[in-house]
Amino acid sequence: MTASFFVEEWQPREFTALSASRHSALRSPDYNACVMERPFDARLECSACRETFGMDRLRNLCDKCKGPLLVRYALRNSPQLRSVVQQRAPSMWRYFEVLPASSPEEIITLGEGATPMLPARAVGESLGTPALFIKDESKNPTRSFKSRGMSAAVTMARSLGATSFAAPTAGNAGCALAAYGARATTPVFVAMPDDTPRSIVEECRSYGASVELVRGVITDAARRVQQHVAEHGGFDVSTLKEPYRVEGKKTMGYELLEDLGRLPDVILYPTGGGTGLIGMWKAFAEMEQLGWIGPQRPRMIIVQSEGCAPMVRAVRQGLDHAPEWENPSTTAWGLRVPRALGDRLMLAAIRESNGAAIAVPESEIEPAAQELRSKEGIDAGPETGAALVALRMMLRDRSIDPDAMIVLFNTGGNKYM
Ligand SMILES: *Cc1c(COP(=O)(O)O)cnc(C)c1O
Repeated sequence: MTASFFVEEWQPREFTALSASRHSALRSPDYNACVMERPFDARLECSACRETFGMDRLRNLCDKCKGPLLVRYALRNSPQLRSVVQQRAPSMWRYFEVLPASSPEEIITLGEGATPMLPARAVGESLGTPALFIKDESKNPTRSFKSRGMSAAVTMARSLGATSFAAPTAGNAGCALAAYGARATTPVFVAMPDDTPRSIVEECRSYGASVELVRGVITDAARRVQQHVAEHGGFDVSTLKEPYRVEGKKTMGYELLEDLGRLPDVILYPTGGGTGLIGMWKAFAEMEQLGWIGPQRPRMIIVQSEGCAPMVRAVRQGLDHAPEWENPSTTAWGLRVPRALGDRLMLAAIRESNGAAIAVPESEIEPAAQELRSKEGIDAGPETGAALVALRMMLRDRSIDPDAMIVLFNTGGNKYM
């Protein structure tokens, strides 16, 4: 890979500048009540071969090379937009101008985003990290950050004519898709590993999704989804197989700036398919183009379990892609992703941010999650436990400065009881 997808600028011919009058029109906190136009032209671009495509019809991977498509906005320096956004209702859709929907009326929302940024004082004190924060994504609809991605994906797919949805899942993506599908009155099919905790299977079904249990892991469920789509139709919203889940999840990157007034020095992110990591890295590049931040970036830390650590192995071996992990096994279900379509994008973000990828011992995951629950009162899932273990390991070997501003993502609640 030569230049990164994230840093190059793309300028369209027909670019419309943000006008001052439009800014004042957007000032209402009820963003649904005011007329908005798209101030930045946008199109899809293949993250591998750079071929571009319009956003006017349903698309999965690149027609030419099967690479993941990402949205490229023709952004311009717009410091005013930041204060406009701040005055809107707290929701990820307050970032409308940098999201793919073409009108506020088509948005399918359950109130996702604008999650709390909580200082972790007790845990921070025990670690000697005075500036430790937890971004609490368990406060999203269906208790995980998957809601952000699904709100964007379902909004776009429905407005482009999808009449049913399908996706493989390790659990939370299925629940979120089921809920947003219900909200959009659109049927949902999900396939998940047959050892997924019962509570998650039942949650998915309670939102009206048709759930099929598959022997194996998420990559096996993905094959089942492909078969289902071939036989029955339906739009496949698998991680990075469609371009808009990243757009929803990138709003976490925008919120970091709003929550803290600056970007943190270090981000620990429990990583499976990597949508959130790729999305945040994209958000930082966009915010720089908007003139909201400078060139400085947080160090991005990928956290995985020793039982399934394809990204960690790829970083260690200096690869630009991550080969499939054999016999993946972890109780941090969201991290049980043996092969990720976004592997190259994740590895680029790690390299460019002077980041790292770290695998944690399986036996330490649940006790660490429990510590976050009992010491901080946070609804922490095992994936977040893994992130805390990683932080402890990196502080111990001095690869993180204890005085740094550190954000640990609580990607989802503890649903596995
Ligand atoms: C899906 C999931 C992850 C992994 O997220 P990606 O952005 O796909 O890497 C982590 N934690 C939880 C709770 C999840 O549901």
